[in-house]
Amino acid sequence: MWAADLADLLLPSGCVACGIWIPGGRTAALVCGRCKSRLEQAAWPRCQRCHNPRATGRTEAAQCRECQDWPPELTFARYAYVLQAPAADLVHALKYEGWAELAQTMAEALAQITLPASGSAVVTAIPTTAARMLERGYNQAGLLAERYSHARGLPIAELLVRARATASQTELHPAERQANVEGAFTVDPSSMSLWRGAHVVLVDDVLTTGATASEAARALVSAGASGVTLISFARALPNALR
Ligand SMILES: [Zn+2]
Ligand SMILES: [Zn+2]
Repeated sequence: MWAADLADLLLPSGCVACGIWIPGGRTAALVCGRCKSRLEQAAWPRCQRCHNPRATGRTEAAQCRECQDWPPELTFARYAYVLQAPAADLVHALKYEGWAELAQTMAEALAQITLPASGSAVVTAIPTTAARMLERGYNQAGLLAERYSHARGLPIAELLVRARATASQTELHPAERQANVEGAFTVDPSSMSLWRGAHVVLVDDVLTTGATASEAARALVSAGASGVTLISFARALPNALR
């Protein structure tokens, strides 16, 4: 596999996040102990629905600004870490630098997330575009979903299909993100026929505004899913809430 060959060429390599040399040659960990210990979880208390940290002084009943505009189809969101170094470095390395092997380490973090009670569940990934699939050779969310489903012993299915190409969300403002992904996904009816009524655990690498997940959740629920929980390795949070 291309990514594995690349990793071999780069050996002896350092920590993917900080570059420090890690002993162990081919079997060395991809992330050093110091970086692993610096991965930061979000503060508590958090919104019950989306786990966004609640700013101090807000009452439990107050609406969470992060998820109040999400459609009801996106039932919950959970994430392992705050999107900042070194979590952001790992996301970048998996997505843009060919470090497909990182999916295993990152999925182990996903597997630690407690899922909200939701009945029988099936795992699926946010699909990437055909162009990005060609460019990278893999879908980073797909790799995370595979490793995650294996770690948790949950079934996995390719339910979502990109209905059309979309611009990368990275450079867009929140309002533009919504328009960019509208109608972006359809559901594969034959895959979905096996999972009618199931709760979908939707895997992505990063949660930013929830626009992509909202659009995917709408498509999944209209095709027969009972609800959707998004789980992501990292979440972009405003500085004040970290
Ligand atoms: Zn490191
Ligand atoms: Zn919320």
